[in-house]
Amino acid sequence: LQIENLNGLDKKYYLHPTTVPKKFIEEGPKITFHKGDGVYVTDVKDDTYIDGVSMLWNVNLGHGQKELAKAAYEQMNTLAYSSSFYGYSNEKAVRLAEKVVSLAPGDLSAVFFTSGGSESNDTAFKLARFYWHLNGRKNKKKIISINRSYHGATIAAGSATGIDAFHNFAGSKDIDIIQAKSHLTNCELGDKSDPNYEGCIRDIIEKEGAESIAAIIVEPVQGAGGIHISPEGYLRAVKDLCEENEILMISDEVICGFGRTGKMFGIDNWEVVPDIMSVAKGITSGYAQLGGVLINKDIRDTVIQYDQILGHGFTYSGHPTACAVGLKNIEILERDNILNNVNNMEKELMKGFDYLSDKHPHVAKTRTLGLLAGFDLQADRDTDKPFDESIRAASFIVEECFKRKLILRAADFEKGKNIVAIAPPLIVNKEEIEEMINIIDATLTDFKKTLIK
Ligand code: PLP
Repeated sequence: LQIENLNGLDKKYYLHPTTVPKKFIEEGPKITFHKGDGVYVTDVKDDTYIDGVSMLWNVNLGHGQKELAKAAYEQMNTLAYSSSFYGYSNEKAVRLAEKVVSLAPGDLSAVFFTSGGSESNDTAFKLARFYWHLNGRKNKKKIISINRSYHGATIAAGSATGIDAFHNFAGSKDIDIIQAKSHLTNCELGDKSDPNYEGCIRDIIEKEGAESIAAIIVEPVQGAGGIHISPEGYLRAVKDLCEENEILMISDEVICGFGRTGKMFGIDNWEVVPDIMSVAKGITSGYAQLGGVLINKDIRDTVIQYDQILGHGFTYSGHPTACAVGLKNIEILERDNILNNVNNMEKELMKGFDYLSDKHPHVAKTRTLGLLAGFDLQADRDTDKPFDESIRAASFIVEECFKRKLILRAADFEKGKNIVAIAPPLIVNKEEIEEMINIIDATLTDFKKTLIK
C-alpha cells in the first residue's frame, strides 16, 4: 500500500528526465531504488538487481561504498559548501585539481570545475571560443561533433549530441555547432573516395573554413550512441586534422574517464593528447555531482592573462563536499588497483561474449574496452543484415534481463540498430560477470523462441 502511495505521488509530482511521460503516467515508475551494495541494487519491494550499467555509467566503485560516504560526511561536518567565485577557494577543490591534472595526459594543466557532464561540455566549448577570442581570432566559434555522440542535455551539449532523439525537446539548437554525418570512418584520413566523405569532419572543415572552427569534440568510446570504440588511427587522424587547421580537440571523458576503459582516461588507449578534456560521472563514482574541464598549458597561459571577470561559473563549481568525494574516489581507484581489476574483468567479459556469440547466431560485434561493453543483435551477422524494424531486439533483451533482475541498457535510436550496452561497476568480480552472462544467455534463448520464428 505504501509503495502504491509512493507511485501515485511519483506520477503526480515528479517529471522524470529521459522518460516517456505518457507511459510513465500510465504505468508509474519501472523501479524505485532503495539501497545498493557493490554491483547490486535493491528496490522498495526488496527485490535485488545486478546493476549491469553502473546506473548511468557512473557508479564506478559500486553502490554502498562507505569510505565515499564517510568522506562526504566529514566534509559536510567541516565545511559543506563554500563559493569559488570572486577569489574564494577551498582546500578540497585545490587538492582535487592538482590530483586530476597529475593523472591527465600530456600538458593538460588546469581544471575548471562544474557539476556534471553537460556543464563540462558547455564550458569546454566556451573556453575553446574564448581562447580563440583572446588570440584575436574572433571568428573561430564553430564546434564540430560526431554522429551518434552523446554530450549532454544543455543547449550547447545537446546541440553537439549526434542522436536525434535528444533534439526533440531542445526547441532550438546552437547554430555554431555542426554534427559530422560520418561515424568513425576513414574519410578523416583524407580518403575522398570514401562514401562517407560528404559531411565528414574533413569535408566540414573544407566547406566551412578552418578560420571559423574553434574545436572538434569526440568521445574516445561513444557510450549512449551504442558503444562505438574509436578504430585504430582514428583519434590520431582527428588530432592531426586539428593541428593542421589550428582547431582544438576536446575529448569527452565523461563516461571514459577514471578507469572505465582500463586506462585512467579513454584517450590514453590511443596515446593522443587532447587540448581540452571534459570529465564528470566517474570522478566521484556518482556519489556527488561533480564535473570538470581540463585545459592544456597554452589555453591556461592564455586565459590567466585575462584581466577582467571570467564571466562563467556555477554555484557548485569546486563544491567542497563533491571535491572531497572525488579525492577519496581517486584515492581508492589507485589504492585498490581498480584499473587492474578492470583489465582482468574485461577478459572475463569477453570470454562471456564469446560464449554468447558461439551459442546465439544473432549476437554480433561483441566488443569491450575495459568495462565499457556492448554487442549488436542482427538478423544475419555474416551479411550485417539488421532485423526488420518490427523486431525490437535490443529492447526485448533489456526488458527480459530486467525481469530476471539484471539492469542493462539498449541503444536502438536508429532504425535497424539493436545494441545492448553493458558497463558494470569497476569493482565487479568474475562470479558476478558470469551471473550477468547467464541471464543474457537465457534471454537470448527466449528471444529466439518469442520473436524469431
Ligand atoms: N558526455 C557523455 C559522454 C555522457 O555520456 C554524458 C551523460 O551520459 C554527458 C556528457 C552529460 O553528462 P551529465 O548527464 O552529467 O550532464
